[in-house]
Amino acid sequence: MLERKFLDNQPFLAIGINIFDFRGINDIFGYHNGDLCLKELAFRLSEFDGVAARLTGGELLWLPEQLPTAAFIEHLKATLETPIDTGDVSINLKVSIGLIHCPKDANNAEEVFKRMNIVLDEALTTRQFILSFSSELGKRYSRRLSIITELRHTLEQALEEFSLNYQPKLDLKKGTVTHVEALIRWTNARLGFVSPEDFIAIAEHAGCIESITSWVINRAIDDAARFREANIDVSVAINLSAKDIMNPALLQNVLALLKAKNLPTDCLSFEITEGDLVKDHDKAIIHLQAFRDEGFEIAIDDFGTGYSSMAYLQNLPVNTLKVDKSFVLNLHKKDGDQKIVKTVISLAHSFGMNVVAEGVENIEALTLLADWGCELAQGYYICKPASADNLITWYNDNLETKWF
Ligand code: C2E
Ligand code: MG
Ligand code: MG
Repeated sequence: MLERKFLDNQPFLAIGINIFDFRGINDIFGYHNGDLCLKELAFRLSEFDGVAARLTGGELLWLPEQLPTAAFIEHLKATLETPIDTGDVSINLKVSIGLIHCPKDANNAEEVFKRMNIVLDEALTTRQFILSFSSELGKRYSRRLSIITELRHTLEQALEEFSLNYQPKLDLKKGTVTHVEALIRWTNARLGFVSPEDFIAIAEHAGCIESITSWVINRAIDDAARFREANIDVSVAINLSAKDIMNPALLQNVLALLKAKNLPTDCLSFEITEGDLVKDHDKAIIHLQAFRDEGFEIAIDDFGTGYSSMAYLQNLPVNTLKVDKSFVLNLHKKDGDQKIVKTVISLAHSFGMNVVAEGVENIEALTLLADWGCELAQGYYICKPASADNLITWYNDNLETKWF
C-alpha cells in the first residue's frame, strides 16, 4: 500500500503510532487484553479515511487519505488515548506519534520504515509525543549509532582510546587544592575526539556505562596512588551514573581496589547528578548511605538544574552540593546568578553540607564565592582538566600561588 502511495506522485503523510509501554500492558493486563487494545486502536483509525497496518509489537502505521493538519494530529492522539474498556478493566493508553512527510523525508517504503523507527525512538527518549522526522534527526541518530558501535569496540579491544584528566578543586579557606575531579576523555580511531557530554548519556542508554565506570575507577585509583607517592594529598572525585549507584557490587569493588593499593577511603570521592537520584529515590539513598558509612564524600553534581526539593535534600546521604556551572560562568555580571548561588550556599550550610562551585572562569567569581563562604572552587581560572602527569607538575608549580 505504501508503494502505491508513492506511485501517485502526491505528497502524503506516513503516521507511526507507538503504544507507550505495550509490553507493560501485556504483562499487567494479559496478552488477550493487549491484542484487544491493538484491535480497538485499529478500529478507531478505521473511522477516519485511510489505511492502517500493524508494524511490530505495539506499533501501527497509518496512511491518511488526505494530508492532515496539526490540529487533526492532536485530535487523533486524543482519540486514540481515550480509555479502552475491555469489559473487565479500563486501560489508559499513551501513544507517541511519528510523522514522515513523503516524498520529502522518504522516497520509498523501506526509507519510511527506517525513518519511522528513528522518529518513534526519538519521540520516546525525548518524550515529545508528536514528532516529525527531519534530516537533522536522522543525522543525530546515525551519529548515536556510530558512537554505540565504536564505544563497544573501544571497551572490548581498544581501551587505550580512553584517558582520564583531572581538574583541581581549590579549597577557598586554605587556598590549597584538596580535591581533583576525574573527567574521562575518548579519542576514537574513526570518530576522533568525542566529548563525554555526547557519549556518557548514550552509554547509559546502550547499557555500557558500567564498563566505562569500571575503567574510570581502576585508572583513578592507580592515579590516586601516584598522587600520594608525589606527596599530593588530594581526593579524586569520580562521576557516577544512575546505573552505577544501583549496582550493588560497586562499593565492594572500590573497597577491594583501594585495599590492594593500600589507600584510605578519603582518597576517593563521588559525584552524582540530581536527575539520577530522582529515578529510584529510596534505593539510591540506601546505596549512597553505604558509601557514606565507609567514609566516602559524595557530592550532588550540577545542583540547581534538577528537581530537588527541600524535603528531599534533608534525607539525602550526601555531604556536598556542587553548583552547576551555568550559574557560575557569568557570576560577576549576573545579579540573578548571584542570588541563586548565595541561596544554594546558605541552603547547603543549613543542612551541614559543603559547596563546590564549578565553572569559575575569572577572579571576580572566585572572590565572590570566597566572600560568600563557598568551600571549594573549580574552573578554568584555576586550571583546566589535565593529564595525571600535567596535574602533578601544575600542583608543584602552584604550591606558593596566592589565589586572591
Ligand atoms: P561535570 O561532572 O559537571 O563536569 C564538569 C564539566 O565542566 C567538565 O566537562 C569540565 O571540563 C567543565 N568545566 C570545568 N571548569 C570549567 C570552566 O571554567 N568553564 C567551562 N565552560 N567548563 C568547565 P567535561 O569534562 O566535558 O565533562 C562533561 C560531563 O561529562 C561531566 O560534567 C560529567 O557529567 C560527564 N563525565 C565526565 N567524565 C565522566 C566519567 O568518568 N563518568 C561519568 N559517568 N560521567 C563523566
Ligand atoms: Mg562532575
Ligand atoms: Mg557539573
